[in-house]
Amino acid sequence: MPVINRISEFHDEAITWRQKIHSEPETAFEEEKTSAFVASQLESFGIEVHHGLAKTGLVGILRGVQNGSEKTIGLRADMDALPIEEIGEHAHKSQNRGKMHACGHDGHTTMLLTAARYLAETRNFDGTVHFIFQPAEEQGGGANVMIEEGLFERFPCDQVFGIHNLPGIEAGHISTRIGPIMAISDTVQIEIDGKGGHGAMPHETVDPVVIGSLIVTGLQTLVSRSIDPVKTAVVTITQFHAGETNNAIPNTAFLEGTIRAYEEEVYQKLQDDITQIATSLAEAHGASVKVSFPGSYPATVNAENEALLAIEVAKEVIPVTSVDDNCNPLMGGEDFSYMTQKRPGAFVFLGNGVDSPNLHTETYDFNDDIIPIGASFWARLVEKALPIR
Ligand SMILES: [Zn+2]
Ligand SMILES: [Zn+2]
Repeated sequence: MPVINRISEFHDEAITWRQKIHSEPETAFEEEKTSAFVASQLESFGIEVHHGLAKTGLVGILRGVQNGSEKTIGLRADMDALPIEEIGEHAHKSQNRGKMHACGHDGHTTMLLTAARYLAETRNFDGTVHFIFQPAEEQGGGANVMIEEGLFERFPCDQVFGIHNLPGIEAGHISTRIGPIMAISDTVQIEIDGKGGHGAMPHETVDPVVIGSLIVTGLQTLVSRSIDPVKTAVVTITQFHAGETNNAIPNTAFLEGTIRAYEEEVYQKLQDDITQIATSLAEAHGASVKVSFPGSYPATVNAENEALLAIEVAKEVIPVTSVDDNCNPLMGGEDFSYMTQKRPGAFVFLGNGVDSPNLHTETYDFNDDIIPIGASFWARLVEKALPIR
């Protein structure tokens, strides 16, 4: 059973929605216009809309034609753009300077809207669907804010699902896996407090540049010597700021970077060991150090039943050979993780095309060709998860 014909009939109109959202990108918790557009579309399909979660977040409720079942499902799309200046000449280019849909959330929103339109027309399921449109995936953890404001109490979901487009994969191919699929991602900040002085009198100083260098080098042993070789972890220092001139040793140095892991245990060990290495190296040389981790998105972990259901549905919508049921997890972070922490769920990748520029780049654009595939996946997922008896 391939892409749903009725959904293909919506394709041209769906492209106009996608391009409209693309041309008016809004960033974290400011998705006012996008949210209003989504709400007006849902209402025009006859779907009940609830506003006011996480400022611009909203939930649409649709009950199936039979409606004897208590079963519920949550389908989630993100609506926010990034603070990136778009490069490109296409007609739907960003009209908002310095803002851009560089992660394809315009496409995610459109695919879920398209599925909502089809499901509202057919209602060929028994139970309740919650269409969750969230703000601030990129910054601010909008999913978590919605949860804290009562998302799952007000709109119960037995299961939750999310889709993310993925450049580098053939357009319309679907991939997922059981277990971790997106990483825990956190920032590490290290402030070294030494003692500055004349560049020619180093013996009277505590040089934070040398100590910072030792710390950067010391951290390289973490993944290679401290983490179990069969586990995955990344420690990358991306910034090293110190000093102003050629002949003065500065008082302080500042290091910043990113750490990634799939397992909480590994992540905890990275935090502990980074703190220990930085502290002991600084102390050994007479400096003091402050190590901080501003906070992470948890890992997105697919539950077995939900991942298997997603795979089964994908194989109905696209050719079996276009479905990868055991893809590599990605090292990126994703706030859908907060939802999979609370409810069994699955996150799937939908290929945006082999030649698509990467996510978060100035030339990226969501591939409109894949809208009917994502929307058909959503629709069949609902019909399969909430079957009519
Ligand atoms: Zn992104
Ligand atoms: Zn994204």
